[in-house]
Amino acid sequence: MTKEKINEEELKKKLNSEAYHILREKGTERAFTGKYWNHKDKGSYNCMVCGSELFASDTKFDSGTGWPSFTDPANTKSIDLNEDNNHGMQRIEVTCKKCGSHLGHLFNDGPNGKKRFCINSACLLFKEKKT
Ligand code: FE
Repeated sequence: MTKEKINEEELKKKLNSEAYHILREKGTERAFTGKYWNHKDKGSYNCMVCGSELFASDTKFDSGTGWPSFTDPANTKSIDLNEDNNHGMQRIEVTCKKCGSHLGHLFNDGPNGKKRFCINSACLLFKEKKT
């Protein structure tokens, strides 16, 4: 599913209303309520809308924020960064490069000088890596 091909009505039927709001209307889930903030299995976190691989479990860390947090995207082609000046804050919004869906925000306070990609669980679908 690419940016042009998203049928919002179809997507509304497929997702629950909270996930739709977060992904397509730039919402945010409440901290510590999502499926993956404390999830530690090995695998990849893919876009809930289009399935594109977004983040890998080996870059996930415990940020204490209650949202899944990653130091890096799965690859440079998986996400877009956008200026976000909503809600009286200057933030960087993270979106899926393939389908344009909202994922979360990027901050500079990750571990060891790294970034923190603060991502809503509702935007992710985990795929376990079989070893
Ligand atoms: Fe996507």
